[in-house]
Amino acid sequence: MRPSTRAVHAGRPPHEPDQPFNAPITMASTYVAGGDLEYGRYANPTWTAFEEALGALEGGRCLAFASGLAAVSTILDLVGQGQKVVAPRHAYSGSVMQLGDLESRGRIKAHLVDISDTEAVVAACADASLVWIESPTNPAMEVADVPAITAAAHEAGAYVVVDNTFATPVRQQPLDWDVDLVVHSATKYIGGHSDLLMGAVLTRDDQLYDVLKGRRDLVGAIPGAFEAWLALRGLRTLPLRVERAEANAQELVRRLRARADLTEVRYPGFGGMISVVLSSGEAADLFQHSTELWVYATSLGGVESTLERRRRWKSEAPTIPEGLVRLSVGIEDVEDLWDDLSAALDRSSTG
Ligand SMILES: *Cc1c(COP(=O)(O)O)cnc(C)c1O
Repeated sequence: MRPSTRAVHAGRPPHEPDQPFNAPITMASTYVAGGDLEYGRYANPTWTAFEEALGALEGGRCLAFASGLAAVSTILDLVGQGQKVVAPRHAYSGSVMQLGDLESRGRIKAHLVDISDTEAVVAACADASLVWIESPTNPAMEVADVPAITAAAHEAGAYVVVDNTFATPVRQQPLDWDVDLVVHSATKYIGGHSDLLMGAVLTRDDQLYDVLKGRRDLVGAIPGAFEAWLALRGLRTLPLRVERAEANAQELVRRLRARADLTEVRYPGFGGMISVVLSSGEAADLFQHSTELWVYATSLGGVESTLERRRRWKSEAPTIPEGLVRLSVGIEDVEDLWDDLSAALDRSSTG
């Protein structure tokens, strides 16, 4: 089956008389003993339905988490005492903050790299225990050579993780490039409606799956049944939403690149995320407050278009330009999106 068919059909109850079409929301802290489920921190049939569906899209076994950062933290917890983690200096700021926190407590050594500089990344892999990749990066939009980095990391005996939040399995399935783990903020495109937080980890390695499942059981970084049900409902339309957001983004990029008042338009060629760089932080502030349809808000990947100057966050990398505004393109009509965006740019450029 092809991806959009899998997105619709995976993780459903069996096609039998009286079975519901959709997995029910199982609200349970405990189960009658003697079976496989036992307790609500270990298992929930609504998570399982979500995990089967996302697993079918990424091509691996899936574990659902309470948030993207709960999934990131569970993976980083596997790194041995004092071991080295290679990661993009422009990875999602929360992931970089977790690495900094672990390093400041003497738990790991973090080596931050420009993930698009393959030669430098490959050199850094030599004595690494874990290589963290995000591609494209949020919000710098750098793209990594995942197969080349993975080969070098494996030669050094390191595990490789790809944060696939921006590309989604609709555009990129990193497990096919032999990476060990894929991580998602399902809060973004997978949920897709800005109404939940969730994370996920995927792998084809049964041993890694068992270790991560064991950590999740022990730490309790689990999603609620309702969140899992909503995320699964979102996943059904993931390919449709990504295709529409991408078509909108490609048209907007064409028009944005024709404007003289933007220093840079960063777009990796696929997906619904664009970063534009304005002449200054002040111009970018004015821009983010000047739209009417586009919502000034953090986060991304919803059906509605949003924008945000990233350096308004103290936690954002200082190498991200002050004037960079991240655009999350939604599924609205592209002409309405352009009318609002270009009018806001006109207002912020003329002061
Ligand atoms: C948002 C985000 C995360 C963190 O996910 P949460 O669900 O907010 O915890 C991780 N990686 C990327 C690329 C993100 O955009």
